[in-house]
Amino acid sequence: MIKLLNIFLLCCVVFLYNKSYYFNWNKAYIYRKPQVLYRFFKNKLPFLNKKKKTNFLKELYYLLNSYSTFIRAVDITRGKIYFIMEDYTRILYDNHIHSYREMLAHADIHSIFYQQYFTNKINIQLPRNYNPGRYRNEKFLESVYGHNLQEIKYNLVKINFFGRKVLFNKKNKAAFYLKKCRDELKEAVRKDRSLLRYLTNIKGTFNYRCIRHTKRLSAHAFGIAIDLDLSPPYYWKQYKFYKKKNNKISVYVYPDKIVRIFEKNYFIWGGKWYHFDTIHFEYRPEMFYNLTEK
Ligand SMILES: [Zn+2]
Repeated sequence: MIKLLNIFLLCCVVFLYNKSYYFNWNKAYIYRKPQVLYRFFKNKLPFLNKKKKTNFLKELYYLLNSYSTFIRAVDITRGKIYFIMEDYTRILYDNHIHSYREMLAHADIHSIFYQQYFTNKINIQLPRNYNPGRYRNEKFLESVYGHNLQEIKYNLVKINFFGRKVLFNKKNKAAFYLKKCRDELKEAVRKDRSLLRYLTNIKGTFNYRCIRHTKRLSAHAFGIAIDLDLSPPYYWKQYKFYKKKNNKISVYVYPDKIVRIFEKNYFIWGGKWYHFDTIHFEYRPEMFYNLTEK
């Protein structure tokens, strides 16, 4: 009898573990409220502990709010969670890779949120390898902004940025928010002319290239990043004494006003990375989840 009961219990566990849920957001009623999300998933993630479950729900909520029309569904199968994108790209939520280098190279959805981006002014030395926003899931970005050069080019629009025509991706309102930045920057320049030298002769936006010394596509390849003008560029690899000193210099030489305008419009700033890149601003709405509502 006990043996039979054991077998029955084992069957139950196997059944629950293998049960899959396919939840289609477009037809659903829930996705703007975290409480509703939580209620829906409450009993559907038996393979996650409480902390991991909370993280997953938070991250799902941030992504749904930042890319709502691009995420079709979430598929939970055999203890694994997949994001199904609008074009049916299937992306694993957590690949359980946690080392810094591997995470940069193989970022899953979960690693996008590995480090939190802060919008307040940083006046401490950043911890080693603290680079919020540098963990990008390429499949995710491709699915939103274009799968290849041809598709991305098709999604680019021209924007007049302080006298220069630049290309930016129109998907997910990226170009819309760059235009908004430009208008607010113009207003700021009117009050403070000294800002102008950072905004003219900019280094560029769209550039179908990989990140230096890697095979990963840069945010510039998707047309969602802009490099402003600053001479000399304070890029961590060019900064000779970087290892001996710290990256405070990148934070203090840059006008806060410009950073704040970009952040207000969902652009993260490369100056807030341990491996800093102070001319770099990148449209990443999901990094602002707990600060603003779109
Ligand atoms: Zn850049």
